[in-house]
Amino acid sequence: AAKNRGRRTYTLYEPEMSVALYHRMKLETDLRHALSHDNGGLEVYYQPQVMLDDTSDQRMITGVEALVRWFHPEQGQIPTMEFIEIAEASGIIDELSDWIVRQACQDVVAWHKAGFMLNLSVNLSPLQLNNPDLPKELLTHLDRCGFDPQYLTLEITESADVTDTVAAAKMLSKFADKGISLAMDDFGTGYSNLGYLNSLPLNTLKIDRSFVMQITDNEAERKLVRGIINLAQGMGLKIVAEGVETEEQAEFLRSQNCEYGQGYLFGRPMHKLGMLKILNQQYEKLHPAIVLLEA
Ligand code: C2E
Ligand code: MG
Ligand code: MG
Ligand code: MG
Repeated sequence: AAKNRGRRTYTLYEPEMSVALYHRMKLETDLRHALSHDNGGLEVYYQPQVMLDDTSDQRMITGVEALVRWFHPEQGQIPTMEFIEIAEASGIIDELSDWIVRQACQDVVAWHKAGFMLNLSVNLSPLQLNNPDLPKELLTHLDRCGFDPQYLTLEITESADVTDTVAAAKMLSKFADKGISLAMDDFGTGYSNLGYLNSLPLNTLKIDRSFVMQITDNEAERKLVRGIINLAQGMGLKIVAEGVETEEQAEFLRSQNCEYGQGYLFGRPMHKLGMLKILNQQYEKLHPAIVLLEA
């Protein structure tokens, strides 16, 4: 648009814009730096996923989702969506994702060695599905840190950024061949194309938080969630409800045969040491006499 207005427009240099632009460019530079230095403030946090159909007082943790955090050395915590978007726009999402996978696999392998056989879910950016080297790179990481692919789930979202859906489906089936699971994240909010959905080797469907939020005060929303659960069951998929915040929501979901839940009710995303503490507590209840892991 600026081009059409001729050479003497200064659209790109309006003061408010240049502040925003400067902020973005600074974050991009700092993010690149953080990826190559230990003190850049990047951390992987973990949020528990639990079995809803569990009558004991503390529901069993069956897996964790890795969620990246950035505690910027000068600016404090940057919202994850904000820097993921910057990483996507500036072509460093593959590198960032690589870093996250390596950290997460290293942490979860240590838990596996200690006897906590948890599943690990990692988010993929839709842009990564355009990178044909992704399977090789990811499998190399798993191999190097001795992570059993059976315990890995890749979360993808329905997105217009996947330019070649046939190629993406092909790539994802390479993961499936290695025993890696695939989850459709934020289900119901995207560009729902049931044909594409059906062409993917999916194992799990995650019901978006926006639906879960409303199930206890809205009958229409309850019907919708029932519909999603029926669809998932019909397709033979596991269901995880995200954003579960109240006992009432958890109970409704359980009554509808939704097997797994994730949300603040069961635990916020936390540092690996906090996660380990919770795992130890769970284990202690099951096997009171057994010596525990050191944090
Ligand atoms: P997501 O994958 O759907 O992750 C769930 C988001 O919901 C997380 O936000 C989590 O902190 C939040 N959440 C979980 N339970 C509750 C709850 O009970 N109530 C509320 N209000 N929120 C809850 P977060 O960590 O800010 O991440 C936002 C999004 O950014 C993620 O959505 C995902 O799309 C993306 N993202 C996060 N980490 C990564 C990553 O490592 N790689 C990539 N590519 N994307 C990531
Ligand atoms: Mg996710
Ligand atoms: Mg989600
Ligand atoms: Mg979400």
